[in-house]
Amino acid sequence: MLVGMSTVGPNEGMREGDGPTIAPGQLVVVATPIGNLGDLSARALEVLLSADVVYCEDTRRSRTLFSAHGATPRRRLQTLHEHNENATSVEVIERVARGELVALVSDAGTPGISDPGARVVAAVLDAGLRVSTVPGPSALIAALSISGLATERFVMEGFMARKPGERAATYESWRHEGRTVVFYESPQRLTTTLDELAQLFPSRRVVVARELTKVHEEVVRGTLAQVATTMRAREVLGEIVVVLDGVAERARVSDEVVAAALDESLARGLTLRDAVALVVAELGVSHRETYALALRRRAEGAS
Ligand code: SAM
Repeated sequence: MLVGMSTVGPNEGMREGDGPTIAPGQLVVVATPIGNLGDLSARALEVLLSADVVYCEDTRRSRTLFSAHGATPRRRLQTLHEHNENATSVEVIERVARGELVALVSDAGTPGISDPGARVVAAVLDAGLRVSTVPGPSALIAALSISGLATERFVMEGFMARKPGERAATYESWRHEGRTVVFYESPQRLTTTLDELAQLFPSRRVVVARELTKVHEEVVRGTLAQVATTMRAREVLGEIVVVLDGVAERARVSDEVVAAALDESLARGLTLRDAVALVVAELGVSHRETYALALRRRAEGAS
């Protein structure tokens, strides 16, 4: 069955305001908090409590979530993680086909987003069965929405690659990326990644969103050069999303932005020629105009 051809609504026969708002005989992908347990929605709790079975990445974590809400799931919790997702998909299909309400959660956030879930969703759809959503928290959307960077168009890269060759290729693909880039990074590798990126695009804006919705929530904003320096000087702990500005279109790059990028490169000790080359590569601006601007600024004593 083609996913795009599906026309059956998930809640047919149900009235607005009726309780349980999700009909049986489907898989429901339920988002759960990324830190603050208070972010579980009323509808998420209702579905988790009324589901015939809840598939969880880690049943202990999900029990903690339930008990924080003073609730006990009606039926058993089952595990679904990346190592058993294919095998478990068959079981999920059988349950949905016999009319059960099957809920799926991950440890935190939205299942299927850098988490198990996408394969079971595809399998249930391929079997011609219903899948619906109880939307809610996701670290990538939470970070992007408070980044202050452009949100109209963005690209999610998942977890940053670990192998040097793959990392270099990823960075290269961002050289001319106009959309905002979002990726997940571990605290152990954050400073290395920021240092590597700062070498390539020192004046590009970046936001490091750490421990969102938790006690030690912190959002660090600045240019890559600034944020890399800040983070290098500290011990980095917790869960992290990095949001990186896209490259401004040539027409939108003002002289002020080019001048600031030149000043930053010169302040790092680059020669005028190297600073111009870096800014041209980074911002995609004209070499002739940037060189002329650099000479003007030097004549004016700006740097
Ligand atoms: N499915 C989840 C979602 O929708 O947010 C993402 C799961 S992924 C395995 C976990 C990664 O998400 C963490 O390593 C971190 O990069 C990011 N993350 C999760 N919770 C976070 C939080 N509270 N603050 C910042 N980043 C978080």
